Amino acid sequence: MAAPDKVDKVMEKLVSLAKRRGFVFQSSEIYGGLGPVWDYGPLGVELKKNIKERWWRSMVHEREDIEGLDAAILMDPKVWEASGHVAGFTDPLIDCKQCKHRFRADDPRIKGTPGAPDAQCPVCGNKGTLTVARQFNLMFKTFMGPVEEQAAVIYLRPETAQGIYVNYLNVLQASRQKIPFGVAQIGKAFRNEITPGNFTFRTREFEQMEMQFFVKPGADGEWFEFWKAERMKWVQALGVRPERLRFHQHGPGELAHYAKDAYDIEYEFPFGWNEFEGIHNRTDFDLSRHQAASGKKLEYLEQATNERFIPYVVETSAGADRTTLVVLADAYREEAIEGETRVVLRLLPSLAPLKAAVFPLVNKDGMPELARTIFDDLRKTYNVFYDDGGSIGRRYRRQDEAGTPFGITIDGQSVQDQTVTVRDRDTLLQERIAAAKLVGYLAEKLKG
Ligand code: ATP
Repeated sequence: MAAPDKVDKVMEKLVSLAKRRGFVFQSSEIYGGLGPVWDYGPLGVELKKNIKERWWRSMVHEREDIEGLDAAILMDPKVWEASGHVAGFTDPLIDCKQCKHRFRADDPRIKGTPGAPDAQCPVCGNKGTLTVARQFNLMFKTFMGPVEEQAAVIYLRPETAQGIYVNYLNVLQASRQKIPFGVAQIGKAFRNEITPGNFTFRTREFEQMEMQFFVKPGADGEWFEFWKAERMKWVQALGVRPERLRFHQHGPGELAHYAKDAYDIEYEFPFGWNEFEGIHNRTDFDLSRHQAASGKKLEYLEQATNERFIPYVVETSAGADRTTLVVLADAYREEAIEGETRVVLRLLPSLAPLKAAVFPLVNKDGMPELARTIFDDLRKTYNVFYDDGGSIGRRYRRQDEAGTPFGITIDGQSVQDQTVTVRDRDTLLQERIAAAKLVGYLAEKLKG
């Protein structure tokens, strides 16, 4: 991991580029910003959507044994009692009595034993001012209906998984699946994190891409290995540098209350190695708890053997925002070109928000008219951008920062022979091709 000031610089540059180019904005910025909440701008929404669509395609459309679901954020509060979240979805919280800052008990900056005189606050530096850790529930509470009373308390879901568990029999019956089979869902989740931060890495509102795979008890180990390998393959196919990816197995102290085994997929962010996806063996914990709490049978009858059992669940749980941050952070490069530094996002072309930008070299001699025709034609198929402002060099630089893989320039020759030049964002090579072949050319280049 780089030195702290370098880390801040890298993250600062990424946050600044994200704002400048319209990837991510601070929530409620005109009011000073709602700290750990972020909004996706015109390019960010495209990038995140491309990642989610890619996940959905590989999880749902390309597999016969997985179905999609879109469950509501609000659920019966009994769900969260049964799942163990009301009692156990907590983080240990430490307060500094002096400066009032709050820390997670596992904050590596805390020295000494909180509650004891030797403990030192990492922010104000005072000794003996840190409280002992107390458990803090991460679920957001609100009220359903007009009366704000205990009986009306409802939670914003802290994970999408429970919406799948309570619907597992509905999906099974409606889709006529047989175990093993899975249910996939993309949706918002909310956690009242104690120490959010690092840009979109840890926020209080975020999106998850989760898949719950229901298997026969005993087959869980094998399916766990299968999904672990599959998910790493998927992540690598996002074009992320493989040396910045690794697995981390949860030790006994790290395992969530429901898990028998768990691996994180970690990325080496500028601020160090951190998880952005988890593969968890949740056993029959959730379904058994829901069966007991709801009184509804959640068993599966295996016809071949006439056996009844509560399935085990292997979960793959990815953050759409964290995966987007991985893709952005990995793509960010500063390169020296002809004595100048260019900032470029080397995004996988199929993930890039804009696939191409169309530039008339100058705004005369028939070039803008031809450029517009080409642009109108391309945007029937692709998200493309038209830019006639400033020197061609400046226009290229703007698109480099946006991660646009191809720059299409219409010049004097184009007007004569209907050819254009295509500049490759990464190699900077330019080739001249017939305008009529552009759609096919892009289709070829955007595969993968
Ligand atoms: P962490 O230890 O970082 O808090 P976690 O182990 O609690 O994460 P999971 O419950 O396994 O995370 O959630 C699955 C995924 O959801 C994470 O890998 C991450 O991508 C995403 N996620 C969880 N919490 C947040 C958050 N506060 N902000 C953004 N994404 C999150």
